[in-house]
Amino acid sequence: MSVHSLRGFRDLLPADARLFASIEAAARETFALYGYQELRIPTIELKELFVKSTGDTTDIVEKEMYAFTDGGGREVAVRPEGTPGVVRAYIENNLGQTGRNGKYFYIGNMFRAERPQAGRFREFEQIGAEHIGNASPHADAETITMLVRLLEKVGVSGCSVVLNSLGCGECRKTYREVLLAFLRSRAEKLCEPCRGRIERNPLRALDCKLDGPALAETAPKLTLCPACAEHFSRTQELLKISGVKHEVNPSLVRGLDYYTRTVFEVRSSALGSQDAVCGGGRYDDLVKSMGGPAAPAVGWAVGVDRMAMLLQDKTAADNSPEAFVVAASKDAGNKAFELTTALRNFPGGPISADFSSFELSLKSQMRSADKSGASFALIIGEDELKAGTVTIKPLKEKGDQFTVPVADAPSRLKQLLKD
Ligand code: ATP
Ligand code: MG
Repeated sequence: MSVHSLRGFRDLLPADARLFASIEAAARETFALYGYQELRIPTIELKELFVKSTGDTTDIVEKEMYAFTDGGGREVAVRPEGTPGVVRAYIENNLGQTGRNGKYFYIGNMFRAERPQAGRFREFEQIGAEHIGNASPHADAETITMLVRLLEKVGVSGCSVVLNSLGCGECRKTYREVLLAFLRSRAEKLCEPCRGRIERNPLRALDCKLDGPALAETAPKLTLCPACAEHFSRTQELLKISGVKHEVNPSLVRGLDYYTRTVFEVRSSALGSQDAVCGGGRYDDLVKSMGGPAAPAVGWAVGVDRMAMLLQDKTAADNSPEAFVVAASKDAGNKAFELTTALRNFPGGPISADFSSFELSLKSQMRSADKSGASFALIIGEDELKAGTVTIKPLKEKGDQFTVPVADAPSRLKQLLKD
């Protein structure tokens, strides 16, 4: 058997895992500031959920979903995105009635069978926010402001917010015909898949990875109905109030079916061709169309892998131990083991401690101590064992080693760590 991970799936070794954890911690702090609560949703759902919400003409559902028939003969899929699961949970648990404020966030891995390349994996992490049950532009502006705040807190710089409005079903009805005529007139210039789906979902062609950008430039633009136009201009006004710089780009359409009114992306040129860090927008009809109450909503999802790529400083706080305990013999080993426990349980505040194997040579244990990144080695040799003492040796900073009674070691060490 050859031992390797699947293409597009990767290990996050401790340094990367630390970085991801620090991004998650920054996100959690930001969410708390804005009144968002965590929701943990399943990784696998009925396939139908994604087909009906994300949409059967989207890349995600058409080409990228890991779907299979489970042992019970059910058609299921591994989640490619979080919004459908959140909406299902909202409906199933009657959160519109029982929930606090309709504001939820999730942190989790998503799965899409797309071609792996820089910044594009088959398993990747998203942090997402959904505000369900609020139609007002304040919700749009608040959620975008929170997103920018999160990116700043994480330390992602050089991003720009791009904004557009896709209008409501009414605005789109007329537009659909105009756009369809435009697309039909140049059908032979479209790529194969787009040609196949222009009749089913003409807007999708404008989001095509191949020809979308050029098409969107020349395509007729959507005219918003007065209510949608007002919603959009108020959203922009509110973004100005909260100091969020943004640009309006009428070509931004986003790839999912459920968006209405405000859509947005955060991009960074530093990412190259995979330039989107975050995508989001309003989905006023989704909850109702999935069988729930009329609950207009707005949300976004940011890619943690891409945020990590954008960080200037990729060194998250290391969790190396404060103390590394070393012993010279089997008997000293038992004493050292007891000391390690006493350090971790110190009533004056736990001291993180580690050891390698008390049965190895002193030299080998000292090598492990150096490698551990600990600030101090605590050594119990033969002399120390007899005298009931321990030698404390600084590993990182210059300084003399000294010997103290074992019972005093935790408090002395605590003092040293504070200095
Ligand atoms: P793209 O245009 O790059 O395919 P998308 O529109 O499919 O992005 P969304 O579904 O909006 O992306 O997901 C939101 C964010 O999740 C993206 O902006 C990106 O940061 C991240 N993301 C999406 N797909 C991947 C992937 N395959 N690998 C890593 N991150 C991803
Ligand atoms: Mg994609």
